[in-house]
Amino acid sequence: MASHPFLHYSIAAMNNKKTIILRIAVPTPLRKSFDYYAPEIGELPVLEPGIRVRVPFQHRELIGILLEVCSDTGAAQYKLKPALEIIDQTPVIPKDILALSLWAADYYHHPVGDVLDTALPVLLRQGKPAELSKESYWQITEQGLQVDLAALKRAPRQVELLKWIGLHPEGVSKKLLDDHDIAPSILRAVCEKGWVEKSLKSVMSDVMTTTTPENIEKALTLNPDQQAALTAIQSHLDAFQVFLLDGVTGSGKTEVYLQAITDVLAKQKQVLVLVPEIGLTPQTIQRFRQRFAVPVVALHSGLTDKERLNAWVAAKSGAARIIIGTRSAIFSPFANLGLIVVDEEHDLSFKQQDGFRYHARDLAIMRAHSHEIPIILGSATPSLETLARAMQGRYQHLRLPERAGVAEQPTFCVLDIRNIQMEEGLSPSLVNAMREHLNNGDQVMLFLNRRGFAPILMCHACGWMAKCKRCDARMTFHHDPRRLHCHHCDSRKPIFKQCEVCKAPDLQIIGLGTERLEIAIQKHFPDFSIARIDRDSTQRKGSMENILESIHSGEHRILIGTQMLAKGHHFPNVTLVGIIDTDGGFFSSDFRAIERMGQLVLQVSGRAGRVSKPGTVVIQTHHPDNPLLHQLIRESYYYFATTLLKEREMASMPPYAFLALFRAEAQSMEHAMQFLQQIKDVAKRLGENIPIWGPVPAPMARRAGRFRVQLLLQAKQRPHLQRCLTRLLPEIEKLRGKQQVRWSLDVDPLEMF
Ligand code: ADP
Ligand code: ZN
Ligand code: ZN
Repeated sequence: MASHPFLHYSIAAMNNKKTIILRIAVPTPLRKSFDYYAPEIGELPVLEPGIRVRVPFQHRELIGILLEVCSDTGAAQYKLKPALEIIDQTPVIPKDILALSLWAADYYHHPVGDVLDTALPVLLRQGKPAELSKESYWQITEQGLQVDLAALKRAPRQVELLKWIGLHPEGVSKKLLDDHDIAPSILRAVCEKGWVEKSLKSVMSDVMTTTTPENIEKALTLNPDQQAALTAIQSHLDAFQVFLLDGVTGSGKTEVYLQAITDVLAKQKQVLVLVPEIGLTPQTIQRFRQRFAVPVVALHSGLTDKERLNAWVAAKSGAARIIIGTRSAIFSPFANLGLIVVDEEHDLSFKQQDGFRYHARDLAIMRAHSHEIPIILGSATPSLETLARAMQGRYQHLRLPERAGVAEQPTFCVLDIRNIQMEEGLSPSLVNAMREHLNNGDQVMLFLNRRGFAPILMCHACGWMAKCKRCDARMTFHHDPRRLHCHHCDSRKPIFKQCEVCKAPDLQIIGLGTERLEIAIQKHFPDFSIARIDRDSTQRKGSMENILESIHSGEHRILIGTQMLAKGHHFPNVTLVGIIDTDGGFFSSDFRAIERMGQLVLQVSGRAGRVSKPGTVVIQTHHPDNPLLHQLIRESYYYFATTLLKEREMASMPPYAFLALFRAEAQSMEHAMQFLQQIKDVAKRLGENIPIWGPVPAPMARRAGRFRVQLLLQAKQRPHLQRCLTRLLPEIEKLRGKQQVRWSLDVDPLEMF
């Protein structure tokens, strides 16, 4: 790990506070740290980097992180202010997380204060103590146990409550009381009588509960490929090594992770498992909990701030042995980390798309490197970046080419839909195949990556289309609730019966979304229940879990969904997968679109036939001879990916080049263009001989009322790009016209919008 200029673990034992200068990362958008004198009042603790310090900033008070103690400041001495308070006696951010954050601030050229803000749980950012938060618990008292329940007939609800609390000698939480609809008045009544008492406990609510050893599931006997992969990993448990576990869907990658984790836990070490946002389902967590009799803690966006802090504390103390989390879990502190697993490493959700645009997989590799531990990147469809490194021998390539157990790879059927009479996007052959599988008692899944009813509402008389006023985009027609919705800026508006231009009454709804598909399918199969999974149907908290539950229970026989349905789910009774439309993805302007489409097709297909029943995948296309599609499904992902890699190499695109994308948006196109042009001019003036493309309008030039422009830097070598950015940024901070634009820098951008 490159050392950062701020990072010196010097501890000042100086007496005169005016000579102690604290260099502090303050959460502001400025790409710098700030110097303060030590606070004037109070004893100073040992000032170690990573402690929180309250400081005056402009007209506010902010909480910053101490980076360094120095005796000298670059700023004018008289301007320095004293800090207000040293919050911690010992660092709240451990050394390794501080180092990782500083490295990331450097690499992504992002304000260090904001990076550290991402790394810390909200409650710590607010200055709360870094300890398990306490919760109220209610327990039955000795006196409560003696109560003659028969004599309490007039208060049946108190009796019920006493009986129930009596069943929980460890006490019941507020949440459990609420879940059981216990009225506060009843609780108060039994407390006042001294039958029940309240206490505060440091608890981890349900996060630290562990499976009892008798209920632990046994490991499966590995097949030879799995065994070879495991043996390779086992021989590197005490050193840095990146493994690409490249296994087709259902090949038993998870089983390999689980058995590798067993060994790491036996060494008394902890494990971090990163999963895509959509992959962190209760089923995933369950799978880990059932295997290990140790605390398994989940970190995801659904947690309350308290739960998040508790999980953080539990990881830092070493009490939590396995942390499963989404992107930001990469910043969790560990007492003794022994292994990192990144499942579905190709998934886009590992890259943050706004603000601090880090890639959690890449930071995970950095972290494994600095801890000198192994990291496993698992995927059936590795990103081209990762695959290229494995092919160069920088990562150890472990392959699982076959499905595990009795399951076999699904059979692909490419349906040529040219000149076929389609009905609501469905060909008769697909409908017949569905009927056959449903009549056999199996489940069927249809994949369509477009939510809403239809993407276009058009006037038959004049050709007018419903467009978003604020974006260069059409509004999507939604049936329930009925309205037009812009998926880019979230604008909504009612649907009129007439054309907005010529007032003709003949409006046509064109194209197909999941809502429309659901209605069409229901007509074909009125006797089968349908589950639709997309952003609209799963918006309410817990609704995704409920739908998944009823899919697993077999209540729903037909599953319709967007890519939310594609990832990581294990639906044992799905035997037919229909991919409604692949054409769009193969013809897009984004250079990564084909890679994405290929990954999606295989991931969706991977849901078919995961157990003993064979699976079939039907792909509807107008381009049945597309060679890439054939490589993908007839040969393998590997062939498909190598073809794409050759193209990337010829075009000098990642992974054979490194990109950085400046984005600017403003009220006028001119302002945005001018700003990026200035950046380009600065680069030229600095003599940077690096290809710079643009500025050009973004593929969607206007979004949410603002004009958007891009400037792309491309370098053959990563250090070259980094050097150029390091020189550019201080100059950009000085540019004129900055007030009129919002600009950002995306290092290693994954999406070019
Ligand atoms: P992946 O993570 O590669 O998609 P999973 O680990 O989910 O695959 O495994 C797919 C299915 O195969 C699961 O039901 C799992 O229990 C089963 N499985 C995995 N390894 C074996 C094995 N060695 N023997 C029998 N079944 C296995
Ligand atoms: Zn019209
Ligand atoms: Zn819009």
